[in-house]
Amino acid sequence: MKRREFIWNTLLGAGALILPRGLAAASSEKNPDSEKSHESVKSTETFKGNVLIIGAGAAGLHAAWLLNKQGVNVTVLEASSVYGGRIRSLDNFSEFPIELGADKIYGKKSMLYDLVKKANAKFAPTKGEPYYALDGYVNTEAQLEEDADFKAAIGIRDTLAEYSGPNMTLDQFASRQGLKKRILPLFNALLANPYGASLKQIGIKPLIESESRSDASVMQGTTMLSLLTEKYRSILDKIKLNSPVVSVEHFKDSIHVTDKSGTVYSADKVLITVPLAVLKANDIKFLPVLHISKTSAFEKIGTGPGLRVLLKFSKRFWKDDSTSIYSPGPVPEFVVTGPVRNNVLTATVYGEGAALLSGMGEGASAEVLKQLDKIYGGNVATRTVTGSTILDWTKEPFIKGGISYPSLDSAGMREIAAASIDKKLYFAGEAMNTSGRFGTIHGAIETAQTAVDEMLKL
Ligand SMILES: Cc1cc2nc3c(=O)[nH]c(=O)nc-3n(C[C@H](O)[C@H](O)[C@H](O)COP(=O)(O)OP(=O)(O)OC[C@H]3O[C@@H](n4cnc5c(N)ncnc54)[C@H](O)[C@@H]3O)c2cc1C
Repeated sequence: MKRREFIWNTLLGAGALILPRGLAAASSEKNPDSEKSHESVKSTETFKGNVLIIGAGAAGLHAAWLLNKQGVNVTVLEASSVYGGRIRSLDNFSEFPIELGADKIYGKKSMLYDLVKKANAKFAPTKGEPYYALDGYVNTEAQLEEDADFKAAIGIRDTLAEYSGPNMTLDQFASRQGLKKRILPLFNALLANPYGASLKQIGIKPLIESESRSDASVMQGTTMLSLLTEKYRSILDKIKLNSPVVSVEHFKDSIHVTDKSGTVYSADKVLITVPLAVLKANDIKFLPVLHISKTSAFEKIGTGPGLRVLLKFSKRFWKDDSTSIYSPGPVPEFVVTGPVRNNVLTATVYGEGAALLSGMGEGASAEVLKQLDKIYGGNVATRTVTGSTILDWTKEPFIKGGISYPSLDSAGMREIAAASIDKKLYFAGEAMNTSGRFGTIHGAIETAQTAVDEMLKL
């Protein structure tokens, strides 16, 4: 039985679990995801039919590129007016382009990392240290050595991968560990926000089964989108922009995909790579409807708000050696950004902070500045700000949120969500990643590889 079918049947039948790679172990394991393994398809068989790909984010682009290389006739239908999905940048905000979506390359063992190296792109300097705002003071880890609550939070983070108790939310776990209220925002910033949500929303078991996001690098001098553009140049003419798919009719002998303008496309196979939040919103109607086990798997995988904050100031009011500033408030972590340390702060916000800021609309920037004023005093952020931009991905009609996260009930659900149907419908995209790399670019690319490998088997 093919791996995906096996997983699908086993999960439906016996409720078994395929465990992904562990939180701490992931970054040190032998690389299963080198560029090499994503450059080629495993199949030697010769499917040469027509494939439609829905969505031109990282997963859709990579799948199109792989299929095209195999001589498969591929068309990519993209709803928006640009390709890249949750990868987008802004050129005119500061003296260097800034990412509005994904900016970090997690780990050093992925096709994405190899791609950056191959493109000779440089990584931004990482020298410096994180600062932590606590009780009105901004300190380094060394300065907080005597703080028992801080030490407890860091200690829990560092040993979390060894946790073997029952599943519960991180919030419940923090309370069982006796973490004090004053340290919870920091715990949230370190452990929940990087994974796409807040303490109350993340399940500890699915979290520790996911890949660690502690090792992250940022490029300088180029953008994620230009990297992808270079890599996937050969298939860019296969993308039909402004073509939101509204229905997929998948019958035994035919598949018809219809876009909003009423254009109908037929194909032998279809790969769906739209964000999970779009699937949950039923923006695409399936006929016959998807099995309830699949739609309930969609529901159980966490999705929620996500936004990116960019701020620039006439002068730096944070310490010169800051790499980031962790803080209570809607923004869990401000990142000091840019090729050289400059006057720009950025932040990626998920969970409760994102929900709050998203609800504020235009007022969100002022709220974020207030947070910085509180940390550094004297209204310094509000007085010195020279520009701000917030991209609320929740309000992007074809994205509808941040990233999928490891919710309490999500164990085993990604396998069901990603399983193909009748060798006709295939699913890829970050949320469909079953090796613990969901919520990332390299994880999305990995799902494209898996789907294409399976698709090409006759
Ligand atoms: C703020 C933010 C910060 C992030 N930071 C990082 C980071 O630092 N590092 C990292 O690795 N990852 C990060 N991520 C996650 C990363 O961006 C995603 O995991 C990855 O880009 C997802 O790729 P994808 O192909 O699965 O989906 P997407 O990029 O979302 O692509 C899906 C595509 O489907 C299209 N679509 C939707 N509906 C339809 C329809 N009906 N018809 C046709 N097309 C449709 C969309 O327009 C979109 O282009 C971040 C994400 C966000 C939001």
